[in-house]
Amino acid sequence: WAKAEGRGRWAVWDRERSAREIARSTLAAGLPTALERDEFVLDYQPIVSLLDGSMRAVEALVRWQHPKLGLLGPAQFIGLAEETGLIVQLGEWVLRQACRDADAWRREFPEARLVVSVNLAARQVEHPAIVDMVAGALTDSGLPAELLQLELTESAVMGTAGEPLRALHRLAGLGVGLAIDDFGTGYSNLAYLRRLPIRCLKLAGPFVEGLREGVTETATSHRDEQIVDALVRLARALGLLVTAEAVETGVQAERLRVLRCDTGQGYWFGAPGPAGEITARLRGAAARNPSGTADHRT
Ligand code: C2E
Ligand code: MG
Ligand code: MG
Ligand code: MG
Repeated sequence: WAKAEGRGRWAVWDRERSAREIARSTLAAGLPTALERDEFVLDYQPIVSLLDGSMRAVEALVRWQHPKLGLLGPAQFIGLAEETGLIVQLGEWVLRQACRDADAWRREFPEARLVVSVNLAARQVEHPAIVDMVAGALTDSGLPAELLQLELTESAVMGTAGEPLRALHRLAGLGVGLAIDDFGTGYSNLAYLRRLPIRCLKLAGPFVEGLREGVTETATSHRDEQIVDALVRLARALGLLVTAEAVETGVQAERLRVLRCDTGQGYWFGAPGPAGEITARLRGAAARNPSGTADHRT
């Protein structure tokens, strides 16, 4: 009977696996029409100065309002979009929408100088028209290049040579800021990093997670503290800004400030939400500071 049971298990496993595969291919098949039907939406998450609490930037994070499955997060479809190549069109939609929203904020709150940060997939960096695409999104929206940041993962840029590397230099030449996303989770060649035209490192969440009060409490939190310290010093040596990701507590924010990170992003400063939440926040800051100076959190 052991054999029969074994076969039964395989049958269950096969059924589960094929259900997953069907779900995946259904999602993949729905992606192109989702673009046509305008089913994607952007949330924005604040990136906040650790010194004065002012909102310096917002990261655009895509969601799919699926007609049957409800709101899907990027983890559920970005990989599929990369595999099918649709990421190039989806990424362009994200960039154009983000530039339009950011330009509306710039016109209403010029003194905020709010930067919009947009994630780029490796396939987009490699695309021959990437520079024209970004330049077009800036021109059509009216957003100055200085108010756009593009986030690239280590794997998307490390070892980049030839045309994609020239594209990164041309993007930086336009005045667009380049950031390395999830820094420290991938493979970074420091000699190579030094030659990339980047402005900012976004320290990956896992390093931030270990920051606690009383840093010698546990070996892990002590080690994370030292890693963040070392990474910030490295960024400084390279002349780069540092944003800490996934800041979830006030203690982490305070440790990061002491370690001289420039900005923080995470639930502590605000979860991702619709553009209207950013507008409300800018309005609040402008009301507190009619002169347009930095908004101090209390
Ligand atoms: P990411 O670029 O590292 O974005 C940050 C992710 O961390 C977001 O997840 C955000 O919701 C989440 N997060 C924010 N605050 C906290 C916190 O305090 N703690 C923790 N644990 N997490 C926090 P989300 O929105 O699910 O996005 C996941 C990833 O999907 C993004 O990671 C990015 O790599 C990718 N993604 C999102 N939008 C786009 C896009 O338009 N294009 C591309 N190519 N990738 C995108
Ligand atoms: Mg839409
Ligand atoms: Mg990102
Ligand atoms: Mg990240």
